[in-house]
Amino acid sequence: MTETSRITHWIGGKPWSGTAQRHGEVFDPATGSVASYVDFAAESEVDLAVETARAAWRSWRGASLTARANVLFSFRELLNSRKSELAAIVTAEHGKVLSDAAGEVQRALEAVEFACGIPQLLKGGFSENASTRVDVYSIQQSLGVVGVISPFNFPAMVPLWFVPNAIACGNAVVLKPSEKDPSAANFIAELWAEAGLPEGVLNVVHGDKVAVDRLLEHPEVKAISFVGSTPIAKYVYGRGTASGKRVQALGGAKNHMVVLPDADLDLAADAAVSAGFGSAGERCMAVSVVVAVDPVGNELVAKIAQRMPGLKVGDGRQADSEMGPLVTAVHRDKVASYLDSGVAEGAELVVDGRAHPINGGEQGFWLGPTLFDRVRPEMSVYTDEIFGPVLSVLRCPSYDAAVELVNANRYGNGTAIFTNDGGAARRYQNEIEVGMVGVNVPIPVPVSYYSFGGWKDSLFGDSHAYGPEGVHFFTRTKVVTSRWLDPSHGGINLGFPQNT
Ligand code: NAD
Repeated sequence: MTETSRITHWIGGKPWSGTAQRHGEVFDPATGSVASYVDFAAESEVDLAVETARAAWRSWRGASLTARANVLFSFRELLNSRKSELAAIVTAEHGKVLSDAAGEVQRALEAVEFACGIPQLLKGGFSENASTRVDVYSIQQSLGVVGVISPFNFPAMVPLWFVPNAIACGNAVVLKPSEKDPSAANFIAELWAEAGLPEGVLNVVHGDKVAVDRLLEHPEVKAISFVGSTPIAKYVYGRGTASGKRVQALGGAKNHMVVLPDADLDLAADAAVSAGFGSAGERCMAVSVVVAVDPVGNELVAKIAQRMPGLKVGDGRQADSEMGPLVTAVHRDKVASYLDSGVAEGAELVVDGRAHPINGGEQGFWLGPTLFDRVRPEMSVYTDEIFGPVLSVLRCPSYDAAVELVNANRYGNGTAIFTNDGGAARRYQNEIEVGMVGVNVPIPVPVSYYSFGGWKDSLFGDSHAYGPEGVHFFTRTKVVTSRWLDPSHGGINLGFPQNT
């Protein structure tokens, strides 16, 4: 292993200089070759990062709001000026096409911009004369060291959903990115340093379960923001809260797009293809289920199938590629196995992604877009989060049956309804048990001044990510009741304080 092919931790404002006992391989998914190795942290390296963060927090918590906002504005400028480099790093390790990676970085920038308003966001309340000559006010203070654990599918955006707000609120951070595409986190950490963030306020440890478990147990880690699959989110929530931490753990998804009979079917077919196969279906807000309400099924399936052969699947670095490879061979094989199980369980394989032409390295982790029709709720292609370019169509006899289907699903991340009937759309947004709803919008990711989060098995904890809920999550409130003595003060009173 050469030094250039080694990705290591970022602790105290610089790369870690130790020698790791364990490593992981990082692939170029478009060629299938190992591009680099990433150090896996032992407990001692996590401890070092947490101690470094704790020491930095002691002074960072006292930095003025102006000083914090200045760092955020500088970071925003640097990120904006170097966004193409970051997008290229994402494409190289994740595989998503460059334009998609650029979109991810753009959404990350929006989260940074929100945090630039931290002086406004941290304004507390003040009640003069709550009791006679007594003032009451609230202040929001930082928690200390917070841990951020992120998934492979948005290696730039998901860390930046949390890190800007956490830092702006006066915390210090230990980020544990996905081991599958770790370089974006280091690039981001370097930009923060260049922006003037004091050493140790943001640290990055790479690794696997060992690093995560240590963060979940370390007594100086006060909060955990996690994004990943539902089983791990549930585990992180349980173990983190059991050790006394505040935890928000965002999990997996199965997002339904309901198409009513009055919808514009060409618009709906375009949306289903874009949201189903963008980023090779490796988005937590991807549409993976189309619910065709009778009688649109046949026509809608035909329109979706018609669009699929034209999709250009290839190396994400090539300008004309629309869909890249999957992240690893293991993941590609798992996704491909659903093509067999779907057929075995009786679904109709309308378009087989294994036959799609590919413009990329032979050993790349390829799988073209797949369409199943006549899927039923008990089939594994419906019950499981496949997290790949596999779209399932279920047919429903009515609007009510469609709502019942979506509400019965264990996940509740995102959903969309396609219709020209405002009344139906309004009913849907009221009745559906899902955290983020799109009306003729297939991927309803909230803008950065709202917050992002699903319901049911898509989120454990009660705080959504970024936006106002992010600020709430990364602060704790203190209420001060204050009386400045005046000449009339005096006397002993053992009774419980009452307001007069
Ligand atoms: P993952 O659950 O495998 O990994 C997420 C993080 O957890 C990584 O940092 C990983 O190193 C760590 N991890 C993995 N196994 C662990 C274990 N046994 N113990 C402790 N830590 C462990 O998820 P992934 O494959 O990287 O990402 C895809 C998943 O993330 C999908 O399920 C997707 O829906 C979900 N996701 C959800 C959202 C959301 O906002 N709800 C956003 C993006 C991705």
